Amino acid sequence: MTGRVPVEPRQRRLAGSSTRPVRTWVSLTAAVALAVSGFALQAPPSVSAQTTAPWDGNPLSAGLGPTYGEEWCEPPAAGSSIADQQGPPLALMPGAAVRCTLDRFTTEARRAGVPDRMSYSVIGRSVQDRDLYGVVVNASETPQQRRDYRRWVQLRSVMTTDPKRAQSLLADWGPDVKIPIVVEANIHGNEEEGTDAAMQVIRDLVTTPRGTDPMVDTLLDHAFLVVHPTINPDGRYAGTRANANGFDMNRDLLVQGQPEIRASITNMLKWLPPVGLTMHGYTNMIQSMTKPHNPGYEYDLILKWNQRRVDENDKDLTAIGMDVIRQVNDWNANAESEPPPVGPAYAEGWDDWGPFYTAGHASTWAVDIQTVEMCDSGPGCDGRFGSKRMQYVAFYSSARFWTAHRNALLNDQVEMFRRGLADAERVDCCDDPLVADRGFTEAEHNWTVEYPKAYVIPFDRAPAGRSRGHDAQRSDAEANRLTRWLLDNGVRVTETTRDFEWGDTTFPARSYVVWMDQPLRGLALTTLGAGQDISDRIARLYAPPGAWSPGHIWGADVVEIPRGDSTFDPRTVRVSSTNRLTGGVRGGGHADWYAVTPRGPSEVRAVLDVLRDGVDGGVAEEEFTSASAGTMPAGSLIFPSGHKAVTALRAAGMKAGFYFERGKGNKPETSNLSGVPRIAVLVDSAAPAMNDTLWSLQRIFGDDAEFVSVAAGDDSLQNAPDDPLRDFDVVYNAGQNYPAAENDTARTRLQAFFERGGGYIGTSQSANNFAFLNNADPALIDGALTQASQPAGGGIARWANTGSGGPLTGGYPSEDFLYLPTNVTYFSSVPAAATVDGRYLDDTTDMFVAGLWRDRQEEAAGAPVIAHGQTTAGSRYVAFATNPFSRGDAEREWTLMGQAAFWSDLTDE
Ligand SMILES: [Zn+2]
Repeated sequence: MTGRVPVEPRQRRLAGSSTRPVRTWVSLTAAVALAVSGFALQAPPSVSAQTTAPWDGNPLSAGLGPTYGEEWCEPPAAGSSIADQQGPPLALMPGAAVRCTLDRFTTEARRAGVPDRMSYSVIGRSVQDRDLYGVVVNASETPQQRRDYRRWVQLRSVMTTDPKRAQSLLADWGPDVKIPIVVEANIHGNEEEGTDAAMQVIRDLVTTPRGTDPMVDTLLDHAFLVVHPTINPDGRYAGTRANANGFDMNRDLLVQGQPEIRASITNMLKWLPPVGLTMHGYTNMIQSMTKPHNPGYEYDLILKWNQRRVDENDKDLTAIGMDVIRQVNDWNANAESEPPPVGPAYAEGWDDWGPFYTAGHASTWAVDIQTVEMCDSGPGCDGRFGSKRMQYVAFYSSARFWTAHRNALLNDQVEMFRRGLADAERVDCCDDPLVADRGFTEAEHNWTVEYPKAYVIPFDRAPAGRSRGHDAQRSDAEANRLTRWLLDNGVRVTETTRDFEWGDTTFPARSYVVWMDQPLRGLALTTLGAGQDISDRIARLYAPPGAWSPGHIWGADVVEIPRGDSTFDPRTVRVSSTNRLTGGVRGGGHADWYAVTPRGPSEVRAVLDVLRDGVDGGVAEEEFTSASAGTMPAGSLIFPSGHKAVTALRAAGMKAGFYFERGKGNKPETSNLSGVPRIAVLVDSAAPAMNDTLWSLQRIFGDDAEFVSVAAGDDSLQNAPDDPLRDFDVVYNAGQNYPAAENDTARTRLQAFFERGGGYIGTSQSANNFAFLNNADPALIDGALTQASQPAGGGIARWANTGSGGPLTGGYPSEDFLYLPTNVTYFSSVPAAATVDGRYLDDTTDMFVAGLWRDRQEEAAGAPVIAHGQTTAGSRYVAFATNPFSRGDAEREWTLMGQAAFWSDLTDE
């Protein structure tokens, strides 16, 4: 202990904060005196004694920014949302100032004689190319600090591979080990003050000399911090909840479509912190576990820590006059904080069900990483100032609790991995008296299921010269995509060393096997299993969907092997990368032409690449026979056999892992496909912003999908001097009704587009998308195409392929899954001349695999969900009664969108 005192006086705080007590120089001196006397080595002071910073919410170190008389090292960018938020009660930190502010902390520390405690790195970049920072605060100035950090490093190196050894090390070490604490702020860009609070904490810990503040010393002795000060700098700049792609990133943890989320997850899994906070606003709420419960979580371990830490936060925040809500203890079914009724039986509105949340994903590998919602108004809050204060106190309250219990917390985190590796049976959730006394009961809250034995992601690796190999996997490229996700998320994957027979199924050699006796079995179950039908257990979710499953709604086939099935025992070896794809043009003889039916989004993209290479093809009008694969459905793509074509086909097939089949004799009847179908995404805005619809369409079609506005803006169908649709082949309607009569230019141009043979794709993103066809003048279809909807909380449904020989669903199996973002949607009416390609299964129980759908009307059973037909203008339309683009989730359905674009594009005729 150095006893060194700060060399700089406190910064003066500006008006706006004057109603709050100011930490004085005198009290700081007193604290130093206490520290020097050895008081710092005592246990943390009790709540009643916590009247000084940080417990009163005043910064321990110099306050950040103009509110405290300090200029930002990088001013807010003109036009940014932050530039408008520089006045009282709190000037918010510009995102661009994060880096130079961290550098400033280092300078301050050195000036005060404090050894370096902080490092930071760029862990990724945002959509708009802003740096994402990962900060590590870790003091190494005493032998004990160095030893205890080294011990954590040792622990980290074995905790998932040899958890028993890790637990034995912890038993030996007792409290002499550091615990990592993660803080992530600002994932919602317009919930800003978490960044300011987290940066204030960093300043405290980095610049406060040892021996000055017992709280800081204790934290630095026994913990280290991993901080993402803002994981959404684009949203912070723009003042938006979403990132620049229009995604709510706190719903992206399972899709991981956004670069910010991939960076966050990668860094979190590197450090694997057992505890942490994700800082949000503005509901005065400290997140805790509520029902419903995700069966992939070890609830006995999570509830135990979460309830106790939340109780601490409640005490500490109440002590400074802040009114805090603990939803699990305080909330009722209507998400109101007033009784009756209260308690966990009714706290459905805020849920821990969805692993698409940061906290939900983390709960598969951490014991207490949760959300803290700042205040906005109410007792003790003063707008933005109180928000920062609440996050600041919540951090110290949590960090003190976690630090005090560091050995036990680490041990329980390792216990999760131990249970996983040992394939241990599930443990009761709620035997802990503190938890049981709060009204958690086994009957109501134990949602755990026993894990299956394994999941198989078959890999075909079809050899050239044969027809489609074993046909166990619809798309090897999609099998790799899913496997890559698992590996990136720390899930262990193995593969079979030779062909393996299981019942009637042959899994080819090198098929992926995810054994469930593994450290992250909860995440593996969540990712690969279908989830549960929770409809009879709860009434509401904070946010749908009530089920999610990359194993069911992405592009690969996945097979679940039941627990205890002794017939499944293939020899497997662990893999760290995915298989090389094989493909090209099918060998074994002469070909007059080549054909392919895309079975995954990667295959659609490969076909688009062929077209971009200048090789024109065609779309088969009828079912036909190929030399190498027999019968192929209408809608398959046909390409010539010339040298240039074969070169392009071979490259595409190798890249996407599939073969173009050989055809002999006369080419089947086709419609032309010259060039890539260009997709006009119909909106009505002068300056449409990127969203999940266009983002998803661009994952398929690249830059060949673009917004086109109906009437708003100078470039719209109504106002542009040249017809914008002349450059497009297919319209994807993103929610527009047919333009009103006064928008006559837009009408004329649409009519001309359809008369040229332009395609039309409508999905349940809006009922308008189907009404559009009826409301056109003249109507584009005879008979109504009408969407019906039943209220639901989202999930996964099963449909029967009634169009397997036809131009749209020929590449799909006889039954498949689709994704319901919220409601259960279907067609209540389809024109008589339309062809139905897919219907829900005939029974509402069979059709609904997982999710929340309470009020089931029989009308949905067997109802049409995919249909196609011809318009009165001679063009083609495809109608799909669910939304495949919500949050970029349903990649399984993107193949159909590609197929719909190929088939409906007649504009080249
Ligand atoms: Zn939020």
